[in-house]
Amino acid sequence: MSVVGFDFGNESCIVAVARQRGIDVVLNDESKRETPAIVCFGEKQRFIGTAGAASSMMNPKNSISQIKRLIGRQYSDPELQRDIKSLPFNVTEGPDGYPLIHARYLGEMRTFTPTQVLGMVFSNLKSIAEQNLKAAVVDCCIGIPVYFTELQRRAVLDAATIAGLHPLRLIHETTATALAYGIYKTDLPENDQLNVAFVDIGHASMQVCIAGFKKGQLKILAHSFDRSLGGRDFDEVLFHHFSAKFKEEYKIDVSQNARACLRLRAACEKLKKVLSANPEAPLNIECLMDEKDVRGFIKREEFEQISAPILQRVKAPLEKALADAGLAVGDVHMVEVVGSASRIPSILKILTEFFGKEPRRTMNASECVGRGCALQCAILSPTFKVREFQVNESFPFPISLSWKGSVPDAENGEAEQEQLVFPKGNPIPSVKAVTFHKTSTFSVDVQYSDVSDLQAPAKISTYMIGPFPTLRSEKPKLKVKVRLNLHGIVSVESATLLEEEEVEVPVSKEPAKEDAKMETDEKPNDTSAPGANETDVNMQDAKGTAEAAGVENGVPQSGEKPVQMETDTKVEAPKKKVKKTNVPVAELVYGAMVSGDLQKAVEKEFEMALQDRVMEETKDKKNAVEAYVYDMRNKLCDKYHDFVTASDKEELMAKLQETEDWLYEDGEDETKGVYIAKLEELKKQGDPIEERYKEYSERGTIIDQLAYCI
Ligand code: ATP
Ligand code: MG
Repeated sequence: MSVVGFDFGNESCIVAVARQRGIDVVLNDESKRETPAIVCFGEKQRFIGTAGAASSMMNPKNSISQIKRLIGRQYSDPELQRDIKSLPFNVTEGPDGYPLIHARYLGEMRTFTPTQVLGMVFSNLKSIAEQNLKAAVVDCCIGIPVYFTELQRRAVLDAATIAGLHPLRLIHETTATALAYGIYKTDLPENDQLNVAFVDIGHASMQVCIAGFKKGQLKILAHSFDRSLGGRDFDEVLFHHFSAKFKEEYKIDVSQNARACLRLRAACEKLKKVLSANPEAPLNIECLMDEKDVRGFIKREEFEQISAPILQRVKAPLEKALADAGLAVGDVHMVEVVGSASRIPSILKILTEFFGKEPRRTMNASECVGRGCALQCAILSPTFKVREFQVNESFPFPISLSWKGSVPDAENGEAEQEQLVFPKGNPIPSVKAVTFHKTSTFSVDVQYSDVSDLQAPAKISTYMIGPFPTLRSEKPKLKVKVRLNLHGIVSVESATLLEEEEVEVPVSKEPAKEDAKMETDEKPNDTSAPGANETDVNMQDAKGTAEAAGVENGVPQSGEKPVQMETDTKVEAPKKKVKKTNVPVAELVYGAMVSGDLQKAVEKEFEMALQDRVMEETKDKKNAVEAYVYDMRNKLCDKYHDFVTASDKEELMAKLQETEDWLYEDGEDETKGVYIAKLEELKKQGDPIEERYKEYSERGTIIDQLAYCI
């Protein structure tokens, strides 16, 4: 069983694996620790990761990046609209209202969903892990931003499925960081709580979490974020600054040229990094556009001035985290900064001023999320023994159920009713039961109770509950179980019809408070009118990580005590019997991929991966032919010289030359089989010479050895 953590960033990704001696960040094919989150579509194959980044400058319109910004969002989402303006590739609205990415692949224009493209990125990360572990990787933990909505979380799971991965948990990035921070600490207090603020400023967003540490555990006290405040925003400021300058000075409009845009953005990013370590920096690009070389220069002070609107926004998430955690600045004992954009000096200055103390960098800013993900995977994996450490996670959004109630509304007929099920900060995972009094099939919506923090519609999903028989009771009770699972995904999991059977000892006590409230909600004798009343209930939070083990299909199967389904004993005689019947629950799918589509996407990914593999092998075979030509030519003039007749040599040399010419002309773009045949043809002539030489040199060795013995 694999124990792997993936941090898929908007810019770059990290793969971390757990070994018995600890967590390692593994190297990709190019021996780099970070792998760009890019898929470049080519005429014959895809280039993903480092290879994708290498091809992107030559092929900007077909190089898909920033997938994290596109995934699980509707096309009309204003943030998405803003983002796609600066992307070099084409994004349009699909028939379902979600974005479609256009790229030229295998000689024709094709469309891909962001989920598919993320699936490609995951496939690449998976193969990096597999090459390193020399074993198949399926189980893993994937880091996600805390602000990801239900749809985004589901899309990440779908993308993982496309790549053949099975995430045991989607873990919030800052929580992964907190875990990587706390688990190795040997000096955590037994009774007091050590409060640490983690500030992660990455490529596109900023996240803050305040965690309370005690010996053997961490508890998330608050999460906050700015979804659109990251390193790329500073690049953008520089980009606009220099585009305007170059328009004036050189009369070029880079916005009209995708490649020039890409090159200027890349140069601005470099410039920004230089400014993190130097008070001023130059910007020179040769032949940017219209064959013009451009030159620029900026001081850190000016950079800070033009970035002021972004810098001003850094404080808000800090204030919010403190308020939500119910802490004063002085209660935060330490501040840890991570995420590579946190290297900008002015950001550090703001953090220092806000917290009244210097932020620390004890963690590896770019690797801590990946390491935390691998640690979480190890904790969840039965094959690994990890130091006892509990992660008490909190969910950032309040979730409620809503349904059509029975209280008449003058204008709308049936009034909409809403019941908060998981308040903001609810532990993850968690199960709650809500009791409804209904007589026929009904629907409930799962929704965000407050969308002010979100860029998403309130409604998450709709469930139909029923049909169910209602023979004996006029007002049957239905216990509906709602689950907030380890990934932070909410679902209505099951419904149970509770019918009271013959009462042996009649009890005259009035029903409990909730029932009484229900009575006022319903019109007398209106059994068809739906009315749900009682929420509550048996909340069983499966806290921590130990209990969450044995996750299957993304839903924890064990670790939670079953929800008590019995009705409230306060209102019933001890001998009253309750008959329980399972009631069907069906989710009306919208937004997320339906399983048929997902299966098709899995097959498509398989086909594309096969095509990539064939192309890679073809390249290898072609290289082998080329290498043979050069190698044999050298050897014929050198060590094989005495082992070949002049005429054979001449013939083979001519053949090698002919092959070399062919490789650059007709044979430049052949199939794998053709290259294999070509190599065999050459070897037919070359092998006898090679063998003669080998035989001689082996004999020579024996003679040497004999001479040595004598
Ligand atoms: P996200 O977390 O937003 O999904 P990510 O994890 O890919 O994205 P990081 O790798 O943490 O992001 O950070 C990338 C950003 O950090 C880029 O914008 C990059 O330009 C910026 N960056 C890297 N090094 C420096 C530096 N020395 N000074 C300033 N910015 C830097
Ligand atoms: Mg990141």
